[in-house]
Amino acid sequence: MRKEPPHFLFLDINQRCNLRCAHCHYWRRDDSDRRRYIPLSRRHEIIREFAKINANGTIVICGGESMLEGEDYFSITRECGRLGLGCFSVINGTKVQTKAMADRMITEGPSEITLSINSHKPAIHDATRGVRGSFDRVVKAMRLLIDSRNRLNARKPIYAMAVVCEQNYRDLDPFYDFILNDVGADKLKLNFLQPSFGFPKWRLVDRFFKENIISDYEALASMIRKCDRAYDLHINPVWLAQVKMYHRSIQENRNAAMGWLHRSGTSEHICNTYERNIMVDLYGNAGLCFNKAFPSLPLRAEGDLATFWYERSLPIREKMVTCNRYCGISHSVRKESATRKDRDEPSAPGLSTPGPGANA
Ligand code: SF4
Repeated sequence: MRKEPPHFLFLDINQRCNLRCAHCHYWRRDDSDRRRYIPLSRRHEIIREFAKINANGTIVICGGESMLEGEDYFSITRECGRLGLGCFSVINGTKVQTKAMADRMITEGPSEITLSINSHKPAIHDATRGVRGSFDRVVKAMRLLIDSRNRLNARKPIYAMAVVCEQNYRDLDPFYDFILNDVGADKLKLNFLQPSFGFPKWRLVDRFFKENIISDYEALASMIRKCDRAYDLHINPVWLAQVKMYHRSIQENRNAAMGWLHRSGTSEHICNTYERNIMVDLYGNAGLCFNKAFPSLPLRAEGDLATFWYERSLPIREKMVTCNRYCGISHSVRKESATRKDRDEPSAPGLSTPGPGANA
């Protein structure tokens, strides 16, 4: 039996999205199965049960673009606030386009807000996010949120997060400068490209992953070290070594085109999702990660969440401790923080791009 409670509960609230990201196919989904989703009231019960297991835990709202759910989104953030739980959310910024909405996010939204942005160059962001004008909207959202936070004298962290790939890693230096010094966000998180999420079954080749996974991992590491010196990032050398190992493994395996169907993974085990995370899907099933290769179990009644964590998930955990799938590099599940403990980020998400099944 485990002793430590879970630190994070990832709660899916939709699957749809209003962007068309090249690395994620969730936007092809439409929530047409919504009548089978657990209702908001059940989500609240699960959140309350999680608070009993860990009063200092954090709910991570997952999608799709979760802000498309409007009042459900804020109902969850308010419930987390009422219970004293942390609440993390990664958004694409499209729904935060007015001062009023930015103020609402600061006063009743998540306790930590992360915005997905792939570059300081509008053309790169728009191309990888699939919608022209999405760069302008995410930058506007960040500026509005930072202005609201300052005006309302709030302390809420506002972060940016990028999917790092061949198209943007050479420009990380000016990208950091833009995010930290021009926009004024508190941090730029790096999430490395993984096989495409929600990949359609009819496609045989994960072309975007194959063509955009970084091949020169030494150059990537040099660039991150350069940014570390320039922006005082306090990069964790163990994490940086694992970033290199992840990219080297993919090159050596020569299987990027297979996407999530790959059989050989990273040469080292770098994930510890089974030590800290519970993922609850749209139907009320609990798992230890997003990957459907591992089973999830239904939460039917009060007490099921604790039973899942402390007892029923243990056989799943036993299998995960040797799992080296590529999603181990994701923010949501990797063991190592990107920054050293003397300037740490929460050892989790920010998420978005969690593993298969969550927005980035
Ligand atoms: S590496 Fe991926 S599939 Fe394996 S346990 Fe971690 S999150 Fe799950």
